[in-house]
Amino acid sequence: MTSLAQRTQHAWPDGARCVIGLTLDFDGTSLERGRDQLPFGARSHGRYSAKCGIPRFVDMFTRQEVPWTFYVSGYDAEESPDLVRSIARSGIEIGSHGYLHEGVDPGDAEPELLERTHKLLSDITGTAPKGWRSPSGHKTARTLHKLRELGYVYDSSDKDFDLPYLLRYGGQEHDNYLCLPNNTSSLDDFPFYRVSYTPPSEVLTHWMQEFDAIYAEGGYFNLTVHPRVGR
Ligand SMILES: [Zn+2]
Repeated sequence: MTSLAQRTQHAWPDGARCVIGLTLDFDGTSLERGRDQLPFGARSHGRYSAKCGIPRFVDMFTRQEVPWTFYVSGYDAEESPDLVRSIARSGIEIGSHGYLHEGVDPGDAEPELLERTHKLLSDITGTAPKGWRSPSGHKTARTLHKLRELGYVYDSSDKDFDLPYLLRYGGQEHDNYLCLPNNTSSLDDFPFYRVSYTPPSEVLTHWMQEFDAIYAEGGYFNLTVHPRVGR
């Protein structure tokens, strides 16, 4: 059987065997607000994320001194500016993640929403975000055109490859924009904690086995966690 490295002829910089992307989606109350739901009672998971989940993760990541990226929606940044500022100050990269965590393609409203979130995150953290993650999977040529105009250099939204790759749209490859695929089936806490209700010890075992397989192939391990579901 040929390995991933043999099939794709890729080599990581500096002789690295494998590359890891550790990411977290803030997903505060923007998610409920974007669905015209009140974020209280059984729908208050977004409030938990901002009040308890995010500060706990920030503390853990800064103690471990491991680089992470947090993807934040504009509405959540407006609601919790001090928290978002403290995340950035801790050294964690902030990427953008929609304004109201739009669940469907916002159509012609999207460029303004991308710009509004970009400005909010830039003003609050003092640094313009360079990365974006689609809040619900939608991504069109209109999205990419606006993101590139705003100075973004990557997004982590597609699920179509084992490795990062250069963006291709409009009939050409763009060497200044990278796609970092995220595996939302097996390297994401959401399906385990909200669909299969898998015990954390089994989730950890699963992720370690995934890592061992990806490492053996010289691949790309992109983990996504959501403090609103996995505590
Ligand atoms: Zn999200």
